[in-house]
Amino acid sequence: RGSRQEDLVLSIKLIAYGSSKRLMISRDITHFERIETMRRDFVANVSHELRTPLTVVNGFVETMQDMPNLENDMARRALQLMGNQTSRMKSLVDDLLTLSRLENEQNALSEEDIDVQKLLHILHEEGRSLSNGQHQIRLEIESEAGICGSASELHSAFGNLVTNAVRYTPAGGDIAIRWSEQPDGCMVFSVKDSGIGIEPQHISRLTERFYRVDRSRSRETGGTGLGLAIVKHIVMRHQAQLNIVSEEGKGSTFSIVFPARRRLLKSGSASAD
Ligand code: ADP
Repeated sequence: RGSRQEDLVLSIKLIAYGSSKRLMISRDITHFERIETMRRDFVANVSHELRTPLTVVNGFVETMQDMPNLENDMARRALQLMGNQTSRMKSLVDDLLTLSRLENEQNALSEEDIDVQKLLHILHEEGRSLSNGQHQIRLEIESEAGICGSASELHSAFGNLVTNAVRYTPAGGDIAIRWSEQPDGCMVFSVKDSGIGIEPQHISRLTERFYRVDRSRSRETGGTGLGLAIVKHIVMRHQAQLNIVSEEGKGSTFSIVFPARRRLLKSGSASAD
């Protein structure tokens, strides 16, 4: 990330030198793009190569944990630890692969008619199962309209926001999943929680890869630090906007605002606007 910022600063400095240096600017940007592509390919390849061995190790650990004659306490604890760590590594590798797929501009967005209400009910169930009865999770569907976009990507983006609300809200807290429509026809998905909240200085950095306010808390709850980076890319691919409003100790609201041209009437036909 550091080198990317340096490259950008260099580009800006060159622009300031005036038009005679335009050739240098374009060379600098091409160089930057090449490095970015190499970085993306490298991460994608490493993640892909790690996936198979991890799945094999994880599978064997699970099989051994189920063995009825496993009586040795130490072996049981070691297996449990190995199981937890391999699962964490699997989540990390899966998130890295998702991120590189989303970053690759050649992967076109699939434009399907999405039944958002159905998706919201699924998310509600998933949130409740993750919370395991520890939170009150409400579903507020205020619009019949749907949107067009990628159903699987939006499931992942919305799901990440619900998962975070559960992770960062202490037991007994409230979470509201909401679907609504603005007067200008923009569609809004939001997740509001009464959780730990976020100090203002962190908010603009939350969508950076591996940026976490409290690293140990994120780890304890099974976070990879990539969830919001994934959300940001999905939001950008849908020409939408991610808004974060939060107050430390009181809670947070994460909203995704979709442009009116993505809105669909409930029937599945495109809206007039
Ligand atoms: P993680 O896997 O660590 O949750 P994310 O990219 O999803 O990674 O989120 C980045 C960081 O943003 C989290 O580690 C946490 O500090 C903060 N965060 C995200 N969602 C919330 C929330 N609903 N309430 C408080 N903090 C949050």
